[in-house]
Amino acid sequence: MSRIAIVTGASGGIGSAIADRLSADGFTVVRADLDGASSPVDVADPDSVAQWAGALIADVGKVDVLVNNAGVWRHAAIADVSATDARRVLDVNLLGAWWCTQALVPVMSAGSAVVNLSSTAAAVASRALGLYPASKGGIEAMTRQLAIELGPRGIRVNAVAPGLIRTAATEARYADGSRDGLLAVLPLARAGTPEDIAAVTSFLASDDAGYVTGQVITVDGGLTVAGVGVP
Ligand code: NAD
Repeated sequence: MSRIAIVTGASGGIGSAIADRLSADGFTVVRADLDGASSPVDVADPDSVAQWAGALIADVGKVDVLVNNAGVWRHAAIADVSATDARRVLDVNLLGAWWCTQALVPVMSAGSAVVNLSSTAAAVASRALGLYPASKGGIEAMTRQLAIELGPRGIRVNAVAPGLIRTAATEARYADGSRDGLLAVLPLARAGTPEDIAAVTSFLASDDAGYVTGQVITVDGGLTVAGVGVP
């Protein structure tokens, strides 16, 4: 029987790589994203999530892996963060993962797994990131909370915290060379790739991680151990 994996934000750099990797691992992958995706949903809107999850469950029947990857950032200093942007970051990054998990956990059974996307921004403070770090700190607390709540049902909940990952959306910050100095002081001296994140997500989704729950696995080339902040 085929194993079903749902990836939110699957049209983006990291989400797309995760979907590709889980597909190569043998999962039937549902790629969810905003309008235009094969499985459209606005994770920030609980009504949209309920409608999407209802149709999804009618179609695939059960979920083995849920990857809450959809995310946005509105980097700005406190004086420049509008109420709309503040709410959007929390609505997508934190509540979006909550709504999707709440909607799909009823059709997840023992042996299944949730993987949430955090960020090193939850652990290392940098200037002018607005509420993005708070949204990711919330994701990590939620990961631990749901691990103890869902553990007795055999459902594992973990998070991956990427560091500096070079994607189409972040490419401009690397292409102009302005990040070269920063990358040079990382222990592994390079930006991460979406595939670096997909590999660890694949592990956490797999039975090889069958005794791992409530953890945040940092995938950052050593950024956090070197105490590097992003200026
Ligand atoms: P990205 O912008 O390339 O992709 C994000 C995807 O999420 C997009 O396809 C977007 O359409 C989708 N999305 C946004 N809002 C949505 C919504 N309301 N409903 C459904 N889908 C929505 O970003 P990325 O770099 O691939 O980041 C993926 C995840 O990894 C995010 O959670 C991000 O915070 C996290 N992350 C990224 C980096 C990095 O350096 N790129 C570092 C740390 C953490």
